[in-house]
Amino acid sequence: MSANPLANPFPVILSAPSGGGKTTIARHLLGRRNDVGYSVSCTTRQPRRGERNGVDYHFLTREQFEERRSAGAFAESAEVHGNLYGTLKEEIAKVLARGRHVVMDIDVQGARQLRRAFPEAVTIFVLPPSAEVLLDRLKARKTESPQQLVARLNSALQELQAVEEYEYVVVNDDLDEAVRRVGSIVDAEVVSRERVLGLRLQVEALIHRLQAEIDLQSSS
Ligand code: ADP
Ligand code: 5GP
Repeated sequence: MSANPLANPFPVILSAPSGGGKTTIARHLLGRRNDVGYSVSCTTRQPRRGERNGVDYHFLTREQFEERRSAGAFAESAEVHGNLYGTLKEEIAKVLARGRHVVMDIDVQGARQLRRAFPEAVTIFVLPPSAEVLLDRLKARKTESPQQLVARLNSALQELQAVEEYEYVVVNDDLDEAVRRVGSIVDAEVVSRERVLGLRLQVEALIHRLQAEIDLQSSS
């Protein structure tokens, strides 16, 4: 994959019920491609073991979050499972300015707000292969107390209702396959008609040249 800046980078929104695998897929996608960058979100939740400030999230207090929100720093923000989450406008701008698609792992409320701000965004919903697999993965991750787990499952019910708002659905059964599919969606979107920069100009130049040739041949 070329490291050259893209002329038409766009946001790629990944949503899923908690434990669906969107964070894992995003991480692998970033590891495989250099035409994508990640928008590091802000959150008021506590860091999990191994999570790094500024890499996985910008971890903020509620006061710091509210301050930034009042200052209009967020492209979108939402309360999810009792914590605040938000995407900084400057995170999106930074990745797009480097000519890379900006991958965002956000909930369905945030996705609705971002779709309005970035109609060119590509939206992908990640589904677990079954409820059992989702529950097993969530429990194996061991990052939530039983109470937090119930909160996440309740949110999962809401999130699943929103699946039809998304353009694409990727079932996260085999991880490799799921990452490959998300990559294929990005590749297809790059060449989709409305994203090809200057398509009209390109076609008009072709028509002009062919017409000139027709005129030349007809007159000789
Ligand atoms: P989300 O970000 O959607 O809450 P995660 O990416 O944290 O979900 O994934 C939840 C758990 O499931 C993690 O422990 C992750 O390692 C695991 N996981 C994700 N995708 C797969 C997969 N395809 N196969 C097996 N385990 C997976
Ligand atoms: P987690 O706490 O498991 O990292 O994330 C919980 C939920 O918050 C997930 O649904 C995740 O997609 C969502 N989330 C993470 N970052 C953002 C963000 O910047 N904005 C919004 N709206 N949701 C986010």
